[in-house]
Amino acid sequence: MLTNEYLKRVYGQVEQRDGQEPEFLQAVREVFESLELVVDQHPEWEQAGLMERFVEPERVVEFRVPWVDDAGRTRVNRGYRVQFNSAIGPYKGGLRFHPSVNLSVIKFLGFEQVLKNSLTTLPMGGGKGGADFDPKGKSDGEVMRFCQSFMTELYRHIGQFTDTPAGDIGVGAREVGYLYGQYKRIVGRFEGGVLTGKGLDFGGSLARTQATGYGLCYFASEALAHLHGESFQGKTVLVSGSGNVAQYAAEKCTALGGRVVAMSDSQGYVYDARGIDLEKLLDIKQRRRERISVYAQEVPGAEYHPGCRDIWTVPCDIAMPCASQNEMDEAGAKALVSQGAMAVFEGANMPLTPEAVELVRRAGLLYSPGKASNAGGVAVSGLEMSQNSLRLSWSFQEVDEKLRGIMGQIYRACYNASVKCGRPGDLMAGANIAGFLKVAKAMLAQGVV
Ligand code: NDP
Repeated sequence: MLTNEYLKRVYGQVEQRDGQEPEFLQAVREVFESLELVVDQHPEWEQAGLMERFVEPERVVEFRVPWVDDAGRTRVNRGYRVQFNSAIGPYKGGLRFHPSVNLSVIKFLGFEQVLKNSLTTLPMGGGKGGADFDPKGKSDGEVMRFCQSFMTELYRHIGQFTDTPAGDIGVGAREVGYLYGQYKRIVGRFEGGVLTGKGLDFGGSLARTQATGYGLCYFASEALAHLHGESFQGKTVLVSGSGNVAQYAAEKCTALGGRVVAMSDSQGYVYDARGIDLEKLLDIKQRRRERISVYAQEVPGAEYHPGCRDIWTVPCDIAMPCASQNEMDEAGAKALVSQGAMAVFEGANMPLTPEAVELVRRAGLLYSPGKASNAGGVAVSGLEMSQNSLRLSWSFQEVDEKLRGIMGQIYRACYNASVKCGRPGDLMAGANIAGFLKVAKAMLAQGVV
């Protein structure tokens, strides 16, 4: 419940203007509920119309993406780029290719990205983009033609000093390669590498592929140690999803002594009491691009259960939702709590519904929001930009160490902000407040723009 008059008024305006964008409203509301704890100390925010500006993207680009499929049929998708806030640096944020993409989804992701990028300590503003295109079931040629058409419009809006996209759901190394190739062909310049998550042979950073999943586990380790004197050692862990973030979260958590017993995709989940065989999982997902059900067909003793939401009914100590927004609802959270889980670390963006967040927090579980715990991906994207500008490549170990350092800093920034606002250990309030304060200061310093 919002009680502050200024925040209530601005939220009311957003509801009126963007009422048809439920994910965006959900994200704004969650951030405002945290900012209530500090807004009274900053009367200058209202005087400067800061919140009104903060919830309005600087620019929204929506465009047609026509392409020709293998049967010679013309298809048309809708592309987006939301350049949300450039107060602390050029826009930065991924591209998502998934049939569920619409303006609400891209705006919520862009809004979250502003705070996440602020938390990384690197000078990056926030943006996000994508298309309602489904790369699943498409040939490489179809994906390439789609990416080329998408970039033929997007290129005019991006650049190393304006906006540098990266991957997200449905946009991995293959798609980034095709997008970058078309960008370079059109502008004829390297442009500081412009996209991040590139292949290692053309400017990509070592450890970028692993960064979000590894970073999530580094953040979780810090929080477990500091708040509970605990670690992953001997813990039973659920990791939802089986894409980029989930794969490397599972790998790092296993390396740190955890046992990942269940993973999922959008159709269902697999349960393997001995711990997921990661080599097998990567073969199925990265090389063969198959459904996760194949895991249960090929690994003796493993079970497949249709319905991805039921993964949270598996008993565990730690849950790491790494698939998509609102993937854990009240029922999922109830199941986790009743099984005695101790922590939820978000790898995906906004994977818990507001009701689920409320439930796990009220039950006293350690909870970290995605904007803090999944910031490792964009942090290493920032390091890829640095390497491209320096014309240097750092070793895997160097990047991984910097990533670990950044995740530690993010954890401490969130924790310190939680103490300052009178809610020690409330990492959601801490992340929203710490991320926002930096953006707010930069916006105030730059005047009404
Ligand atoms: P991928 O496309 O690599 O994997 C997504 C996974 O989530 C797949 O297993 C997919 O299953 C599953 N999934 C997608 N949509 C749904 C849905 N509606 N319900 C249930 N499962 C679903 O994406 P990433 O791993 O890159 O991204 C996962 C999450 O992490 C997203 O929220 C993303 O925004 C966030 N994130 C990603 C970063 C990155 O660096 N990649 C950085 C920070 C955050 P299926 O194959 O069946 O569709």
